[in-house]
Amino acid sequence: MKKTDSMNGGVEFAGSTKTENKIELAAPTVETFVTTDRKIIVVDMDAYFASVEQRDNPDLKGKPVIVCESLGSRGVVSTASYEARKFGVHSAMPLWKARQLCPEGIFLEVRIDVYKIISSQIKNIYLEYTDLVEPVALDEAYLDVTVNKKGISSAIDLAGEIQSRIFFETKLTASAGVSFNMFLAKLASGMHKPSGLTEITKDQVDSLMDNLPIGEFYGVGEVTESKFRNMGVETGADLKKLSFDDLSRLFGKPGRSFYNLVRGIDERVVDPNKLRKSIGKEITLQADTENVEEILDNLATLSTDVEKLLQVEGLYGRTITLKLKYGNFSSITRQQALKEFTDDAVIFFNTAVGLLKKTRAGEWPVRLVGIAVSGFAPLPESEPAVSESPSLSATTNMEVAQITA
Ligand SMILES: [Mg+2]
Repeated sequence: MKKTDSMNGGVEFAGSTKTENKIELAAPTVETFVTTDRKIIVVDMDAYFASVEQRDNPDLKGKPVIVCESLGSRGVVSTASYEARKFGVHSAMPLWKARQLCPEGIFLEVRIDVYKIISSQIKNIYLEYTDLVEPVALDEAYLDVTVNKKGISSAIDLAGEIQSRIFFETKLTASAGVSFNMFLAKLASGMHKPSGLTEITKDQVDSLMDNLPIGEFYGVGEVTESKFRNMGVETGADLKKLSFDDLSRLFGKPGRSFYNLVRGIDERVVDPNKLRKSIGKEITLQADTENVEEILDNLATLSTDVEKLLQVEGLYGRTITLKLKYGNFSSITRQQALKEFTDDAVIFFNTAVGLLKKTRAGEWPVRLVGIAVSGFAPLPESEPAVSESPSLSATTNMEVAQITA
C-alpha cells in the first residue's frame, strides 16, 4: 500500500483506555502514558494476490508471478510473488519497469472478486476470536484480542492459531505481528515475512524505536520523510531529540503523534467501523494543455482507475470531486453529490465532464487532472468486509492510489 502523509485517528488521550506505567518526561506540560495491557494483532497475508494465483494454478508455484491492476500500457504492479521480488519487482511499480526487471515474469491481471471472497473467509476466522477487527486492505487486518471469545490469554498463541486456521482453510500463508499497540503490532508483522510470527514486547521498544528509520514511523509519508531528513532526522533516536512543542509546531497533529510513537505510545483503537474518507487518482500531464479532448481522455482513464480502486475496497461513493491544477500551479476542485451511491466509472466520468464545464479548462493550460470519490455508503454486513478500510491511507485529499497487496 502506498505510504501517505495523512493521519487518521491520531493519538489522543481523552477517553483512552487504561493508563499505566506513567513515564516522567522532560517537557512538564506534556503527559504521556504507555499503555501496555492491550493485545493487538496484525495479520498480513503474504504476497496475497500472487499467492492466490499460485494456489489456484500449481504451474505458477516457484515462479515469478506479477499481478497487476491492468496489463495495459499504464498498468501498475499490485503484488509480486517472492520469486519476482528477487528481481526487484514490488507493488506500485509501473508495469513497464517490472517487465524490464523481470522479463521472464508471469504477468497476470487482478481477480478482485476471487480475492474478496477469500478475504471474507479469513475475516470469518478472525470473528471467531474477536469482534474488534479492523480491515486495512483485502490482505491485512488489525485485531484487538485483549478480551477474546476463546479466553486465550497469550496473544502470540492466539495469533499462531489464527495463522494455522487461515492455512488450513485457504492454503495461504499469513504473517502476524503482536504487541500492545497498533503501530508496534504492524511493525512486528513485517519483521519475519513470509509466515512470520513476531511479538514486540515493552522491553524491546526503546532500542527498536531508536534504530527505526524515520520513514517507518506511522504517518510519515514521502513528503514528511524528506522534511525530517532535511532536518538531519534519520532514525527514531534523532526523532526523540525533538521536543513535543517543536514537533507540534513543525507538523501539527501528526507531529504530536510522532512524539508519542517513538516513545511506544499509540492510543489508536481497533475500529471495526472505520471507513476511508476518499478514494481518488490524479495524473500530471506530460505537457500543459488547453486541449479539452485530451483532458476528457484522461478523465475517462481516471474514472476507470477509480472504479477499480473502489471495487478493491468494496465501496460505493456518492460525492465526486474533480481536481485541476493549472499551468500556473493554482489548484481548484469542483464537487457534486449524486442521488445514489455508485462505483460506476461511467457515472464518475459523466459527472466529471459536467464539473469540467465549471472550470477554465480549454482557456487556461492544465497540468494535472484528478478525480476522487467520497461520501461512502456503510457496508452491509454480508459484504466481504475485509475490504473496508485502510487506516494508514485514509485521505481527506486526493492522492495517487494504487491497488496493492
Ligand atoms: Mg500482504
